[in-house]
Amino acid sequence: MNSTGLIWEEPWIPYVVSFKPSPIIADSPPYPSYRLVRNLFLDGSNLWNVRLLYEMFPHSVVQEIRKIHFSHIPQPKKLFSCPSKSGNFTSRSAYLTDIASRCSHAAQNSTFSWNYIWNAKIHNRHKLLLWRIIIDLLPTKAKLNSFFPLNDLLCPICGLENESANHLFIRCPFLLQIWFTSKWNLCLNPFINEPIKDCIALVLKENGNLLPSEILREEFVVYVAIICDIMWKNRNLITHGSSPPSLQDSLRILSSSASTHWNSELAKSTTSGKIVVHSWTKPPKNWLKVNSDCSFSNGQASCVFIIRNCNGSILLAHSSIHLCHDPLTVESIAVREACNFIANAKLKNVMFELDLLNAILFIKDHSSAIHWTASHLIHETQKFWGLRSKLKFRFCSRNANYAAHNLAKWSFSSVFCGFIPVNCLPLPCFGDRGSPIGDKFNSYC
Ligand SMILES: [Zn+2]
Repeated sequence: MNSTGLIWEEPWIPYVVSFKPSPIIADSPPYPSYRLVRNLFLDGSNLWNVRLLYEMFPHSVVQEIRKIHFSHIPQPKKLFSCPSKSGNFTSRSAYLTDIASRCSHAAQNSTFSWNYIWNAKIHNRHKLLLWRIIIDLLPTKAKLNSFFPLNDLLCPICGLENESANHLFIRCPFLLQIWFTSKWNLCLNPFINEPIKDCIALVLKENGNLLPSEILREEFVVYVAIICDIMWKNRNLITHGSSPPSLQDSLRILSSSASTHWNSELAKSTTSGKIVVHSWTKPPKNWLKVNSDCSFSNGQASCVFIIRNCNGSILLAHSSIHLCHDPLTVESIAVREACNFIANAKLKNVMFELDLLNAILFIKDHSSAIHWTASHLIHETQKFWGLRSKLKFRFCSRNANYAAHNLAKWSFSSVFCGFIPVNCLPLPCFGDRGSPIGDKFNSYC
């Protein structure tokens, strides 16, 4: 984002490709003294002049503009490429830009967070299958019929509807029976009118709130992948003239395969030392622990941090609301706000815990290509850390971040900004180990 860009003549809002804002008042140019993007800042700062924005642009455009966050530290000017994750111009970013106008489905699919698939704890073959389902690459009868007409389009398993990816993996009565009689006892009927892509996205990235723990969520994903695999195998057996296993046999195969795959994933995590702390632990004596988290939906986010001492008592909790585009930026804002507080309070011996692995990796590894929207925030945290050796940053599981996670949800729904009085803190914040009280902060300041 170039602050010297021309407001009305350049597509300077990075989240809306090729979009040039138009003013509320149709006669242009209506604001001759506001030509450059930097004219939209408050005098002498890097903050948006929000009042001016609302005077000049429609509400929806202001929302997009406010998702652009600037560093308090002056940054060198540089060119960047929006379609590239790092902001650098690459052959991939050029290719994505080139195909965007011609292949709208490719552009839509490019918004799917593929990392949720590639990082899932499932077999690579299953990852590939989920990927093929999402981009509708499987040679189902409906898909083949789009290239050359077929006489029979019915699902080979149930014979009730045309065979498409949506039917096979979300609507087929055989699938519904498998899910209902599996150990998850899941009734898929509420989802049968949803696109399979959205259902898989729900399972991969948003079911953390539906299942009580991260471990259960990961096991559930293994089941989803294996059930899709069984459906596709059964369908292939029938299509090629063999008889498929019965429902009972399919359930036995599912149970055995899921347990083998899940145990293997657990063993891998244990041997590679990747098992992280699954419950919150108190910091050592004379240390403070900061847990931060965010709640994020439709471009609005709450960022919180909560500080506890070696007794496990809550010393301080803070919340703020931001317009924001992606989770990494939101999480980075939460960490930056915590850093600012620690600097102002002159605290030492502080450990940070957060449950967004990317944020921790980027903070610790200076060579990583950070997504450009969050890079200035991460660099601020790195600089802050570089000046204070007695700080620690580490990743923790969602369960170990329970208090901050629940505080963020509460803050999002109550739209709370500022330091939160202890007697207003939601009850789940006291659910971790330790003394369930607020402690005095004075002795640490
Ligand atoms: Zn069917």
